[in-house]
Amino acid sequence: LEENIQKAKGYLARFAERGVLNHINGEAVPALDGATFETISPVDLKPLAQVAHGKAADIDLAAKAARAAFPVWAALDGDARKALLHKIADAIEARAEEIAFVECMDTGQSLKFMAKAALRGAENFRFFADRAPEARDGRSLRMKGQVNLTTRAPIGPVGIITPWNTPFMLSTWKIAPALAAGCTIVHKPAEFSPLTARLLVEVAEEAGLPKGVWNLVNGLGEDAGKSLTEHPLIKAIGFVGESRTGSLIMRQGADTLKRVHFELGGKNPVIVFADADLERAADAAVFMIYSLNGERCTSSSRLLVEADIYDRFTALVAEKAKRIKIGHPLDPETVIGPLVHPVHEEKVLEYIAIGKSEGATVAAGGAKFDGPGGGCYVSPTLFTGANNGMRIAQEEIFGPVLTAIPFTDEAEALKIANDVQYGLTGYLWTSDVTRALRFTDALEAGMIWVNSENVRHLPTPFGGVKSSGIGRDGGDWSFDFYMETKNIAFAT
Ligand code: NAD
Repeated sequence: LEENIQKAKGYLARFAERGVLNHINGEAVPALDGATFETISPVDLKPLAQVAHGKAADIDLAAKAARAAFPVWAALDGDARKALLHKIADAIEARAEEIAFVECMDTGQSLKFMAKAALRGAENFRFFADRAPEARDGRSLRMKGQVNLTTRAPIGPVGIITPWNTPFMLSTWKIAPALAAGCTIVHKPAEFSPLTARLLVEVAEEAGLPKGVWNLVNGLGEDAGKSLTEHPLIKAIGFVGESRTGSLIMRQGADTLKRVHFELGGKNPVIVFADADLERAADAAVFMIYSLNGERCTSSSRLLVEADIYDRFTALVAEKAKRIKIGHPLDPETVIGPLVHPVHEEKVLEYIAIGKSEGATVAAGGAKFDGPGGGCYVSPTLFTGANNGMRIAQEEIFGPVLTAIPFTDEAEALKIANDVQYGLTGYLWTSDVTRALRFTDALEAGMIWVNSENVRHLPTPFGGVKSSGIGRDGGDWSFDFYMETKNIAFAT
């Protein structure tokens, strides 16, 4: 651990000395008015860096740079784009340790997961790089006397707005397809965790990405974020964040008829029937709520368990939750690190207090944890004896807090599972295939895993229903968002 802390200090020194600058038209620049805000580490609450506080004027410059770079980037041959995106992936891999260490100290996520997150970022670039040459391909559709040719072209400069959770990996997931499609971008990262977005744009330009193709403006949601969504040169907004921010963005983008793609919040159920492999189901349920500190949109924050096995199963989960190692994010053994920021820690602790006052039972955790550095640690918490009407069962807590609710039969399980405003993911555990088909068909969620935790396959669609999102990412779905489809009809 000590060795890792020293290494992290080395990687973070540049941020402490020079701050986190914006990046516009190939230049690292401060905000036009010189303003900055401070970013702290959730490990010890000490400042990590001063961050450029961009506003409307900075966004305007960045949007103009993205617009100026667009015709050349859009016209670049697909194979050339593919080669360049692979170079970016190589460069990410070469700096994976630095990225992982910086991410851990900026977000509190443990090295155990962040080491892989950097590599997942590289994989995202490779995945979309390989599809760049065919991104424009359409179809030909015939009728009597006519042949129709459908083609696709990049929509133009786009805005990417990302949240503070796993910021590096998530940014690559949104940015790689935009670049592969031929769009230029302005990225506005989250204010709680801005460091690795800075590394990412640097890595991309060092790998040969032309200046102006990728611009970065730091700032707050209500100024930099808002200006980006309102800017007339920006044709679409790819957004990942809270559902209520999605509503704001839709409103802000209305005057310029912005195309939007939203990956929003969740209150995802894991549903366990008595005929499931209970040991596997318990491990998966624990993994899906407590890994990544529970700060994960696809986390299973509601545990619905068949009444016959409810006590036995929740006891198993509680026992596993109590054994999870909480600690310094750079300790290779740590699973749960500090939550991202004191403001978020307060929100999560408040929900724990709400759960207690609503009458649920704390079966594990339920309090702040006194971890190394004195940062924002919260014990993995399990509430039992809960019902779906409670706020801890309805609202997104976005921390290591699981609410367990019993059900008596399949109909009741489905009713409870669907009785929330969200619909991102669901996890079903049963050995009855017919029930699995019936249940998943009626479950309101964009992505469902049966007898499995969340395992991503990049060509499959990623996204949610209800308040959890609009649109899908992954495979060709990403290109559909970042591109315009055109139909040309020829008389024959
Ligand atoms: P947030 O909505 O508060 O902020 C996200 C981003 O939006 C930040 O960069 C912020 O500065 C910006 N923003 C805020 N107000 C804005 C405005 N008015 N106009 C433009 N931009 C604005 O979300 P967060 O707290 O950073 O992230 C956590 C949320 O993200 C959770 O709800 C989580 O479920 C969600 N999330 C969803 C997915 C998914 O794939 N569905 C993935 C990760 C996170």
